[in-house]
Amino acid sequence: MEVRNLFDIKGKAIVITGAAGVLCGEMARALARAGARVAVLDLNGEKAQALAAEIRAAGGEAIGVMVNVLEKPSLEKARDVVLEEFGKVDVLINGAGGNKKEATADERQPFFDLPPAAIQWVFDLNFIGSVLPTQVFGKVMAEQGEGVIINISSMASYRPLTKTISYSAAKAAINNFTQWMAVHFNQNYSTNIRVNAIAPGFFLTEQNRFLLTDEKTGEPTTRGKQVLAHTPMGRYGTPEDLIGTVIWLISDGAKFVNGAVIPVDGGFMAYAGV
Ligand code: NAD
Repeated sequence: MEVRNLFDIKGKAIVITGAAGVLCGEMARALARAGARVAVLDLNGEKAQALAAEIRAAGGEAIGVMVNVLEKPSLEKARDVVLEEFGKVDVLINGAGGNKKEATADERQPFFDLPPAAIQWVFDLNFIGSVLPTQVFGKVMAEQGEGVIINISSMASYRPLTKTISYSAAKAAINNFTQWMAVHFNQNYSTNIRVNAIAPGFFLTEQNRFLLTDEKTGEPTTRGKQVLAHTPMGRYGTPEDLIGTVIWLISDGAKFVNGAVIPVDGGFMAYAGV
C-alpha cells in the first residue's frame, strides 16, 4: 500500500454545518483544495453561498446551502440538495455551535439570574444542533453502509470552563453522543461508519472574543491571559491548525479510529497548571 494514499480524500462528498463560520469555513476551503466536494451548510445562507462561490472560483467543487441545524425539515431539504448534486454523503462535520453572552455567568449576570431561555438556546445549538443533522445525514450513511461523522467538541467538554455553564454541558454531551453514536451505527447499521470528535483548544473567534479580549482596547482579558498561560504552546490556535486532524479522521488513515475525541489544543489539556 502506498502510504501517502492513506490520507487521500479526493472525490469525497463532505457536508459541513456552520461552514460559513471561522473554523469550519477554513475546513471547507482546505478540504476542497484536497479534492473533496464540499457542501457548505449554514444558517447564514448568503455567507454559505459566497464561500461556495469562492471555493469554485479557486478551482474547487462546492455548493452553498442555507440550513437551520435545529429544524429537521430544513436539514431534509439540504440533504435533498446535496444528494441531487453529489449523489452521496461520505462525511458529515457537525460544526455549527457557539456560546452567547446571555448564557454566560459573570459579574454582570450571576448564575442565579441566568435566563432559562438563554441556557436552553446554547444547549440546543451545541447538542441538538449536532443530533438532528446526524439523524438526517446519518440515515443516508446507514443506507449507503458507510460514512464518517466528525463532531466539534471543545476543551469545555472535559472540565467545564468557568462562566460558560450551558456551553460546557452541551460539549460534554457531544463527547458522550460521539461514543454513543459510534456504537449505535456499528451495532445496528454498518461497521463501516465511524463517529469521532475534535476538541479544539482556544481559537480567537467571534463566539469567544468578548471573553478573551477587552472589547474597547483589544487587550487580552484576565481570562485571555489565563488561557495563554495555561496553553504550553503559548498561543491561540489558528483555523489551519485543525486541518490535518480533520483530513486524518476522514481518511483511511483513521479507519480503525472510532468513538474518539481528539484534542487539538496546544497542550492545554495536558497541563495541570504547575
Ligand atoms: P463561528 O461563530 O465562526 O461559526 C459558527 C457558524 O455556525 C456560523 O457561521 C453560524 O452562522 C452557524 N450557525 C449558528 N447557528 C446555526 C444554526 N442554527 N444552523 C446552522 N448554522 C448555524 O464559530 P467557530 O468559532 O468557527 O466555531 C465552530 C465550532 O467550533 C463550534 O461548534 C464551536 O463551539 C467550536 N469550537 C470553537 C472554539 C473556538 O475557540 N473558537 C473552540 C472549541 C470549539
